[in-house]
Amino acid sequence: MLNRRTFLKTGAAALPLAASLDPAFALTPEKNAPASGPVPTLTPLPARLAPEDSASLSWQQKVRRVGQSNMTEHDPVVMNIEEWADYWHSAGANVVFVSVTGILAFYPSKVKFHRHGKFLNGRDFFGECTTAAKKRGMRVVARMSPDLNWPDALEAHPEWAMRYKDGSVQHNTEEPLLFRTCMFSTYMDDYVPAIMREVNSLYEVDCFYTNGWPPLGSLPECYCAICSKLAPSGTPAYWRAFNDRLFELWARYDAIAKEKKPDSFYFANLGGNVHAGPNLDRLGKTAVWFQGDNQGRTYDDPAIWGATLQARVCNAVLDGKFAANITAAYSTGVVRWRNGSKNPAEAQMWMNETLAGGLALYYHFIGSEDGLGEDRRWQKVGSDYFQWAAKHDAHLKPRRSIADIGVVMGQSTQLLYKGPSTAQARFYMRETTHGMYETLLRGRYAFDYVHEDRLDPERLSKYRALLLPNIAMLSDRQCRQISDYVQSGGSLMASFETSLYDENLQPRYDFGLADLLGISKAGDVVGTNGNAYYARIEHPNATPQHPILDGFSDTNWLPGSQNRIPLKPVADPILTVVPGFVQYPPELAYPPTSHTDEPAVVLRETGSSRIAYFPGDIERTFWLTGHGDLFHLLHNTLRWITRDERIVHVQGEGFIEMLAWETTPGYAVHLLNYTNPNADHCWMQSIYPLGPQTVSMKLPSGVKVNSASLLRAGQAIPFRIEDQTLRFTIPRVEDYEVAAITIG
Ligand SMILES: [Zn+2]
Repeated sequence: MLNRRTFLKTGAAALPLAASLDPAFALTPEKNAPASGPVPTLTPLPARLAPEDSASLSWQQKVRRVGQSNMTEHDPVVMNIEEWADYWHSAGANVVFVSVTGILAFYPSKVKFHRHGKFLNGRDFFGECTTAAKKRGMRVVARMSPDLNWPDALEAHPEWAMRYKDGSVQHNTEEPLLFRTCMFSTYMDDYVPAIMREVNSLYEVDCFYTNGWPPLGSLPECYCAICSKLAPSGTPAYWRAFNDRLFELWARYDAIAKEKKPDSFYFANLGGNVHAGPNLDRLGKTAVWFQGDNQGRTYDDPAIWGATLQARVCNAVLDGKFAANITAAYSTGVVRWRNGSKNPAEAQMWMNETLAGGLALYYHFIGSEDGLGEDRRWQKVGSDYFQWAAKHDAHLKPRRSIADIGVVMGQSTQLLYKGPSTAQARFYMRETTHGMYETLLRGRYAFDYVHEDRLDPERLSKYRALLLPNIAMLSDRQCRQISDYVQSGGSLMASFETSLYDENLQPRYDFGLADLLGISKAGDVVGTNGNAYYARIEHPNATPQHPILDGFSDTNWLPGSQNRIPLKPVADPILTVVPGFVQYPPELAYPPTSHTDEPAVVLRETGSSRIAYFPGDIERTFWLTGHGDLFHLLHNTLRWITRDERIVHVQGEGFIEMLAWETTPGYAVHLLNYTNPNADHCWMQSIYPLGPQTVSMKLPSGVKVNSASLLRAGQAIPFRIEDQTLRFTIPRVEDYEVAAITIG
């Protein structure tokens, strides 16, 4: 483990190197150090990676912009193919999606049950679009949809349908003629390969993609003859069967794609961020294109940071393989208009997040009535954005994240654990995720997600601290890996039911991490009926106060959480539980038991590691309430476990998300301005610009800076280097800014 306490005081002289590559920018070294206030200790950036050999990259790894006009049955008689191809080409798209489908054929398919669209009239619409795109130098993804089919197919193959418990067929709820196909049936073994081989025989496509399968963010529930023999949906055993079938089909489809040419491949619809359906560790080893079908905010995930959340999930498992995040230009959300533009500020922020998260841009609209859409307002938003981004590909394409905090992504917990017995709900873990995420954004931490199946020492060694926000399901092996991480000097913050279940969702008698966290379970989960519990400050007048209590004064207690696990007493607790009580009537709203020895937080130090455990679901309770005390307690605890060390420090006003990357030219620090009344509800309508943000980072020894520039503002900025610490100030952030550092 890298010992981050060991800093070399290099004594390097200030290096006000300020050469600009663009003579239009006259750069001068910053005259005065920016007002910095209490700056955390900066951890040096790691030694730079060896230069990338671009010859070793696959064609898709060089893709930066993807365009899709999703094709409707009506498009063959209304879409202007030349205008379509010209739009995406002039916008700078490297690739376009063209529909083959599977629900409706967009070419004269001879595959049985591949119904021709009723406006196709024998025309080769797919072939014409493919030719138009290829003529302009754009690659073509053959887009299929294996999730639905028509009554004639059902009559011939009743075994293809997904079934309800009573045996009845599952139909599409909007077009009830369409039935839902089962992924375990021969529909996937026979019908889908037949279409792929037919397309391979007729066209020069670059790869194949299936929309609509696998499902996003949840697991299928089917009671057909095959599925009835599987473990019930939603169980660990079902998830294993689902993954085995998924990756078996994935490999088969990929082999069919490669029958045509070796650099072709297959990929599928993905997304769902931390609650994705397929096992993301296996997926990361399989997929060469991660399709982030995460097109806009949803009722389930209402926060503005949905695209960066998806990007962090991709980065946890892809090891540099290609990923794109889709931005719907159309109106996503609870009420939809799939052929009408959304607020430009919202679409633009989603694209900002895609780039800030290190993914390729992907812009998407549905239907081309009247040539290329009755509503064409989306087009300028997309082409302006694509063209701006194209100028800065080198700075916008990351080599690796320089984050030094790892948040464990408990995918099993996200998919299979329903919450504690006192608060079971479909959204329980999503609320936990958003509470942790918002805490890290507000604290301006540089963090990555770390998949639960990737806790090996090589991956964890870059992290100063590992966070376990209610990672309920952990195997014995995973618990050992986390212990090893602490043994090697890493710090931890964990909460609530973390490690109380094994990988099969079997409850443990005590925490799997009991020894490491210094805790022992004293009873079952206690929920809230009325007034939630408080955390009593055991020594409110102590000086100095414990660092996790910094800034709390004039109170003997702090809010607890909605749910907690009672713990056995520990020595010298900082906070103890005041159990919840009646909130109405107010006559009874007082604590019958005002003081207990039940800990409300447990802190440990072992070697250079610091460990903090909260017995309550504190991250989720912060998300539900927005209580500033909960944020400050979490933030203070993060500062304590990391000994106030940061890899990047950004100081200034406002609510921002910060992501920082090592790039081929140098480094890129991305700031997303979420200071907006619509940060966690509905769409952004306007932008509220922020004032100065001062960035500090400590360069690896020997690295010199040539220039610093702002990619959105389109200007170079002064910078200053002292003792290998680079400092510069971004004077203003509209919705997004990227500080691009070019090193010498
Ligand atoms: Zn089935």
